[in-house]
Amino acid sequence: MVCGLTSCLGSGAAGGLFSSAVQFFAATQCLVGETWPKDSVLQNGSRYDFIIVGAGTAGSALAARLSEVANFSVLLLEAGGDPPIEAIIPAFRETLKASSVDWNFTSVENNITSQALKRGIEQQPRGKMLGGSGSLNHMVYARGFPSDYHEWASIAGETWNWTNVLKYFMKTEHMTDTNIVNNPELMVYHGRGGAIEVSGTNEVMFSIKKFLQAFEELGFKTVPDMTYPNSIGAGCFSHTIRNGERDSSLRALLNNANSTSLHILKDTFVTKIIIENGTAIGIEAVKDDKTFLFYADREVILSAGTFNTPKLLMLSGVGRSEHLRSLGIDVVADLPVGSNLHDHAMVLAFLVADNGTCVSDEAENSMEAIKYLYDRTGFLAKADNMAAYLPLSSSEPTVPEFALYPTCIPQFSPFRSGCLTLGLNEDLCTELHNLNQEYELVTIAAVLLKPKSRGKVELNSINPFDDPLIYAGTFSEEQDLDHFPRLIKMAWSIADTNYFRSKNARVIKPWVEACSNLTESAWIKCMSRAMVTSAWHSVGTAAMGTVVDGDLKVLGINGLRVVDASVMPKIIRGNTNAPVVMIAEIAADLIKEHYSVSRTGTNLNNMTIGNLTASSMPNISQPNINLADVIENNDMINSSLIEVEITNVELITTTDRLSDIDDTVNVA
Ligand SMILES: Cc1cc2nc3c(=O)[nH]c(=O)nc-3n(C[C@H](O)[C@H](O)[C@H](O)COP(=O)(O)OP(=O)(O)OC[C@H]3O[C@@H](n4cnc5c(N)ncnc54)[C@H](O)[C@@H]3O)c2cc1C
Repeated sequence: MVCGLTSCLGSGAAGGLFSSAVQFFAATQCLVGETWPKDSVLQNGSRYDFIIVGAGTAGSALAARLSEVANFSVLLLEAGGDPPIEAIIPAFRETLKASSVDWNFTSVENNITSQALKRGIEQQPRGKMLGGSGSLNHMVYARGFPSDYHEWASIAGETWNWTNVLKYFMKTEHMTDTNIVNNPELMVYHGRGGAIEVSGTNEVMFSIKKFLQAFEELGFKTVPDMTYPNSIGAGCFSHTIRNGERDSSLRALLNNANSTSLHILKDTFVTKIIIENGTAIGIEAVKDDKTFLFYADREVILSAGTFNTPKLLMLSGVGRSEHLRSLGIDVVADLPVGSNLHDHAMVLAFLVADNGTCVSDEAENSMEAIKYLYDRTGFLAKADNMAAYLPLSSSEPTVPEFALYPTCIPQFSPFRSGCLTLGLNEDLCTELHNLNQEYELVTIAAVLLKPKSRGKVELNSINPFDDPLIYAGTFSEEQDLDHFPRLIKMAWSIADTNYFRSKNARVIKPWVEACSNLTESAWIKCMSRAMVTSAWHSVGTAAMGTVVDGDLKVLGINGLRVVDASVMPKIIRGNTNAPVVMIAEIAADLIKEHYSVSRTGTNLNNMTIGNLTASSMPNISQPNINLADVIENNDMINSSLIEVEITNVELITTTDRLSDIDDTVNVA
């Protein structure tokens, strides 16, 4: 019997991590489950008000919100099926990559970057199931920073300014992280009573505590809330987890949506948008080897994600005319679809340390599975993630340009499979695997949050079942690479902090053929170019300002919108899932407004968050040390650098805020 990706009595997805527990767990995993939305029975040629393509992070939220309007009929089409059990249990998140619920996209080899990756290409996992990538991501809750949205507003209008997007972040959120809930100053920026739970762990892992200490020694302020605007330092993320299970727009919104106005077709592959006389009137889709046509009386909305949304647009004649003509596709609208692809660039730094450096007892405790099954607590229920955010310089000390994400890997861990899934090549994974037989491994992902480099997505052919060509474009702008020597040295300096020094931590420079015999900074640059990989946050391929307008309507085509990560004109400084939900929430309101659906009692637009407006963000005191210099000169690192002081925030209570958000919709 197979209940998920792990067969019930098999060796278990978590491999050697806690094998006896997994054996027990595997035998009983069918006790954990979820009722997913049922497939509708539909007639070929049926008509709906709205057709949404893709039930991922955005599509699930948008479909649920539109179905709040009783007389809107909505059809939601998803290429994948129900998520497996591993998509519910937080600790099994890693097992979903490179599985049957992953689209398993890769970038095109360019012979310039990623030579130390398998076949010289970046892995681009994306969820192919209800919930999309929101069903396989790491559940980190991040929003980006106010300046990200000031940029969006300057490109796409005030709908996207920080004050407005913050209201929507708060609308969807049910914050239960006690570190935040118990702090009124932090709660000013958080919602209670929204659909998606954002929780924390009462007890962070031993290794996370040690990393936080290390970053403090390195001069980072420890921050209690990684989403607090303009406050940067090191801290633990909150996660979208509810009662020990993944929470997502699928589980929190779509699963609870109005089932009378919403029709869902799973395992249905949309192959084309039907566009007639400049208006999108429906879609063509394949299910069970049969082709169906469905028609939209109001709009077709693409929520197929950063890679598949541009692919569908191009297959339907919306794209760069030169590219479309080269494939014999009639051009309906000449737009830079697929351009502007970008992502956070990620390079791993490695340390080894004595055994016992950061293994927590709980990971070895074979009672963990029983605990989980009993009351959804313990190691399996958690996703501990932390980061340290760094600014580029003191001129913008409240805006991070980089992040360091440390992880500890216990001795004898099944690191090799994770290493290969990440995309590092066999030799590198073998070298690291061998080290892990002797030591604990510490990996520190060094991430560039605002790359200047851009890639593109193109069609491989006119066959809709062919994967798109993904030209990642990483480090196509040399200045992106220039930051990495300082960043990797900063990551390495963890080895020189008190605790890690006492555990004999030392830097490992993995063997990268192309980089032998170079000086240190040159080696880091060379290694970074060879090992750089996607951080799984690709955005921008149907960007606001160039492909869609500020209302997310495709330029020059009627009845067609894009609502997903591809509309981000510039990537935000943080993980992208919550911002995609925010985009869907805003899109739902834009659509309701467009069709004159009034929202009585809804004061979202008048909602006050303290006394904040875009122009009255908290005052930030400016530290006067240039972090760039500090990274370069490690001896300066001990000074307290990243102190920011937030003032001028007027508190309102949670109850005040909730009474302002009334989501009742009335059909005019
Ligand atoms: C491995 C990984 C880890 C991540 N970790 C985090 C994290 O911890 N925190 C965070 O904030 N962000 C994280 N992200 C990023 C975040 O999950 C994504 O930005 C977000 O889910 C994107 O949402 P989307 O709606 O644009 O696309 P998706 O959620 O990918 O949805 C697209 C949907 O469309 C469907 N689809 C595509 N083509 C078709 C078609 N032709 N016909 C029908 N259906 C189609 C897909 O199957 C999918 O369900 C992670 C991403 C990955 C891949």
